[in-house]
Amino acid sequence: MLGCIFCKIVQKQIPAKIVYEDDKVLAFEDAEPKAPVHILIVSKEHIPTVNDLNESHNEILGALFAAAKKIAAENKIAAKGYRLVMNTNAEAGQSVYHIHLHILGGRQMMWPPG
Ligand code: AMP
Repeated sequence: MLGCIFCKIVQKQIPAKIVYEDDKVLAFEDAEPKAPVHILIVSKEHIPTVNDLNESHNEILGALFAAAKKIAAENKIAAKGYRLVMNTNAEAGQSVYHIHLHILGGRQMMWPPG
């Protein structure tokens, strides 16, 4: 979508440190990491929020989690533990309105989150 920063990264119009790509998702390092491992997995299709998902997106959702599993293993955080986060709308702190799964790991996570 025009003006969407993650669409621009998907289309390789702006740079990112890409760590994984397949036909449905792209993963890259978060520009402002909140943990030693902080990677974003974004859908290639522009979907603003979880509230916009429907059954036609089920394969994309599967691809997001399959990529998360691979990336966690590659970063050696699979056994130790990691957190997957998808913020939705303002009160959750969503700042980019193009769905993305945060993979956070490499340190002890706190609960409840802030
Ligand atoms: P959220 O607040 O859940 O919408 O997450 C958006 C995330 O995107 C934040 O963690 C930002 O640091 C990250 N971010 C924003 N722009 C970029 C960019 N150009 N490259 C990498 N990460 C970005």
